[in-house]
Amino acid sequence: MELLEEIRKLKQVRKAVILAHNYQPGQVQDIADFVGDSFGLSRQAAATDAGTIVFCGVLFMAETAAILSPQKTILLPDKLAGCPLADMITAEQLRKLKAEHPNALVVCYVNSSAEVKAESDYCCTSANAVEVVGSIPAEREIIFVPDQYLGQFCMSGTGRELILWPGYCPTHVVITVDDIKQAKAKYPEAVVMAHPECTGQVAECVDELLSTGQMLRYAKKSRSKRFIVGTEIGIIHTLKKQNPDKEFFPATDRAICPNMKLITLEKILWSLQDLQHKITVPESVRIRAENALDRMLAVLPTK
Ligand code: SF4
Repeated sequence: MELLEEIRKLKQVRKAVILAHNYQPGQVQDIADFVGDSFGLSRQAAATDAGTIVFCGVLFMAETAAILSPQKTILLPDKLAGCPLADMITAEQLRKLKAEHPNALVVCYVNSSAEVKAESDYCCTSANAVEVVGSIPAEREIIFVPDQYLGQFCMSGTGRELILWPGYCPTHVVITVDDIKQAKAKYPEAVVMAHPECTGQVAECVDELLSTGQMLRYAKKSRSKRFIVGTEIGIIHTLKKQNPDKEFFPATDRAICPNMKLITLEKILWSLQDLQHKITVPESVRIRAENALDRMLAVLPTK
């Protein structure tokens, strides 16, 4: 309790806001001013008057906030909180792939480094990837990085052939078809929601493939009372809070992102005390990365 009080006081002194991703531990979500998906939080960071943002998530998310809000202080409470999916492609690897496909435009999932975004023509989120890919003229080849499963989801949603990078989220690929079958057998009336970062086999046996933001909206609107959730289990905290009359079951308890769980209340306090760890993006990279984000928003002005 004392710790929570200290965080609240220091937050006021620093004129800071705390943002937490849906996959964060429940107690971190509870202390946050805003909880949401990665791009939604970065836009929230840009919209707030606060000059200091404590970003409870992983590095690429804090970088995205820094791309959109270069004048603000963006803090990541644990500098080791990275994203293995984002780390699966480097800017150099992407440049090489582009050189092999000179006619191609590059769409990169927001779960990528600032340098990779800077090498890309468009960014996308899991919520808008299909629309972004679908907006590209048919005569252009498309390179999609780094998540192969989100790329496959776009291929089936648009009928376009994509040049896929073989990246994947280690947390989502542990969810298996067997997990889904077992959960369905246990809760036959439940709606099965899964994230498009899940494998293609899992995608085929669920009811809805949704981004985290879409899952939250879907669960609220749905008349169903029970849901099987195929994504990182941290979101179940939010789902339960927002829908106290409904039940949510993880497809598997193994779907835990260890990087997301590196953020603790103590680290949030230290982050506010020492203004650590500041995340910045070199201006030359930032401008190009912002262009890719802007092109995404131009396709989808309301998302
Ligand atoms: Fe990266 Fe997957 Fe963890 Fe998200 S859940 S931060 S994509 S490793």
